[in-house]
Amino acid sequence: MNHYDIDLFVIGGGSGGVRAARTAAGLGVRVALAENRHLGGTCVNLGCVPKKLFVYASHFREDFLAAKGFGWFINQPQFDWPRLLAQKNHEIERLRGIYQDLLNDSGVMLLEDRAHLLDAHTVRAGERQFRCERILIATGGCPFIPDIPGKEHAVTSDEMFALDRLPKRILIVGGGYIAAEFAGIMHGLGVETTICHRGDKLLKGFDEDVRTFAAREMCKKGIAIRFNTQIDAIEKTGNGFAAHTDQGHRLESGLILYATGRTPNISGFGLEAVGVEQDDAGAIKVDEHYQTNIPSIYALGDVTHRFNLTPVATAEAMALVYGLYTDKPAPVDYDNIPTAVFSQPPVGMVGLTEAEAKNRYPDIDIYQSVFTPMKHTLSGLDEKTLMKMIVRRSTDRVLGVHMVGTDAGEIIQGMAVAIRAGATKAVFDSTIGIHPTAAEEFVTMRKAEL
Ligand code: FAD
Repeated sequence: MNHYDIDLFVIGGGSGGVRAARTAAGLGVRVALAENRHLGGTCVNLGCVPKKLFVYASHFREDFLAAKGFGWFINQPQFDWPRLLAQKNHEIERLRGIYQDLLNDSGVMLLEDRAHLLDAHTVRAGERQFRCERILIATGGCPFIPDIPGKEHAVTSDEMFALDRLPKRILIVGGGYIAAEFAGIMHGLGVETTICHRGDKLLKGFDEDVRTFAAREMCKKGIAIRFNTQIDAIEKTGNGFAAHTDQGHRLESGLILYATGRTPNISGFGLEAVGVEQDDAGAIKVDEHYQTNIPSIYALGDVTHRFNLTPVATAEAMALVYGLYTDKPAPVDYDNIPTAVFSQPPVGMVGLTEAEAKNRYPDIDIYQSVFTPMKHTLSGLDEKTLMKMIVRRSTDRVLGVHMVGTDAGEIIQGMAVAIRAGATKAVFDSTIGIHPTAAEEFVTMRKAEL
């Protein structure tokens, strides 16, 4: 008989926390989960899901334009923002309900409270206190706005999912995937959109050609991008806001969105008192078993600030639970994690960029293709697709696959399986294409660039 009330206490009901709690409870572990805001966490409520619904909504504008080229004539389409918000909220309610049912059905004790660490084995949630053998911190991350004068006038991605009305003009500060995605959403919904980024390219971490190409395609659609520009201050004006740049410009806008990064959610629940170690960015430090410096306390997902993606958080949750409670460990392989940006056009990648590959190996071949997708031969829209493949000459292994174009996320997911399986260029070449698709280009690229 152990003297604990709970075997595993999970703090945070987001992607990682819910998966860990459900999986452990399914193995007969006594689990409690505390979530003080909204079940499903960032992904369901303020991230992947509502964002993707907005991407769908915003793409219709282009679809209506493209339809003409195929013989459809549609009278001036009307867009109703409150209706989209209501529809989105309804879907998210449904998903939260599913999460709640999954937890209840697997026997997790669900606490709708903020959890607070009291010591290495004790958690308080609301009025109740629990002695726990192990504690998992899966508190995720949150957006932040740098400390500039007038920062209180800016919003973050959190507020974008509940705006009362759409502005006529928006200024988006940042150059990462959240900035690129919201630029596409806002532009598609008819908002005059400007991105302001302190770097000279969007989408750091992606292949250089992809970064240039994606930004060019976004500009062609009508999104303005100001590179090498920093915002020094924001001021409220009569009918909106003005951002003052380090170049001496004054950019007027109805809304200013800051998408310059996220920080781990680590404050106000007792981490310091218990002595859980964090790195300089505030992320909780863990070893390869997700264990912190306090042996009974574990952490995973965005609060460890490594690969801030939902499928990584859920994979880590499975790895932790299987590692702790079964003799079948399921460690996460952090190589070749595929990822997509749901910008317009979207971007997808798996494996190494050209620069990373050339850094690692002396014998790299690059296969690249830029083409007009078949749909746009009649749509009247000027959108191009980029596909790029990085191959190591001596082994013929495909090290990286990159795409900017329609359905990039869907296509790269399939490519990721091939890359993980160690596919060579010869395997790609001998794979029969599906015709006519854009994806068949990946199995028909024959000539390496000189
Ligand atoms: P979270 O999902 O953030 O969950 C943490 C939970 O802990 C929260 O619900 C919070 O309320 C709760 N909590 C915090 N402190 C306490 C406490 N003391 N007591 C109780 N509860 C607490 N990822 C993708 O893979 N694909 C995408 O397309 C994608 N799009 C995104 C778009 C946006 C705009 C954002 C912001 C993120 C996006 N992400 C995407 C990232 C993804 O949402 C995160 O990687 C994922 O949600 C991390 O899961 P998590 O469990 O670590 O944390």
